[in-house]
Amino acid sequence: MLGAYGGSTPHHRQTSFLLDDTVAVDAGALTESLSLEAQARVRAILLTHSHMDHVASLPFLVENVFGRAEGPIEVLAPADVVMSLQSHLFNDALWPDFTRIPNHLLPVFNFRAIEVGKPFRVNGLTAMAIPVWHVVPTYGYVISDESSSIVFSGDTGPTEAIWEAARSAPNMKAVFVECSFPDEMARIADISRHFTPASLHAEMAKFPPDVPVNVYHMKPPTLAALREQVAALDEPRIRLLHDDDFLEY
Ligand SMILES: [Zn+2]
Ligand SMILES: [Zn+2]
Repeated sequence: MLGAYGGSTPHHRQTSFLLDDTVAVDAGALTESLSLEAQARVRAILLTHSHMDHVASLPFLVENVFGRAEGPIEVLAPADVVMSLQSHLFNDALWPDFTRIPNHLLPVFNFRAIEVGKPFRVNGLTAMAIPVWHVVPTYGYVISDESSSIVFSGDTGPTEAIWEAARSAPNMKAVFVECSFPDEMARIADISRHFTPASLHAEMAKFPPDVPVNVYHMKPPTLAALREQVAALDEPRIRLLHDDDFLEY
């Protein structure tokens, strides 16, 4: 767990996970949390969507690993997310187009547009992107190796398909789900399509049964209220994640 939050302070990093040292899910804070050597070991990055708290470190990571990584890093997401990053971030205005640096045959990273709802292989893992309910095109991921599956919700409010996929995945070991705002901000959560503790609690009925529920993407300014409200749910399955937590399945 490199970044457990949906915002940035000196004590809170933006959303980033790292699986098996080599596959990242989202890139909110990869450069703040990993040494240069560890950054160069990242071979693939799965993106849930284009929002800044999920991609902010991507420009700096590709610059840092220039000449260090073994071959291009793969940045994977469905085509609409890839298009958004090409048009709005790596557009030679906000940041250089590193898919053509040093040249298009030998780039620092490649985008790979993946098909929604279809399993694909990424650095020894199998993953599948499923659309969720957010204000821009956003995808959750079910990710599996030979012995375990886990599911990442992406930024979302109440949704269905990702939980169906999670319930039917073999060896499901853990849910990673967002919860952004406290209950008194339910209106903002609804408009921006995020969970509060109350709406997350209702959503849990759809989760695969009896597996840990790891909560991330808390907005730092409301963290104290969020913690209290999540604790008051009295759900032993729920754990609020922190930066640098290490989980093994
Ligand atoms: Zn976010
Ligand atoms: Zn978002």
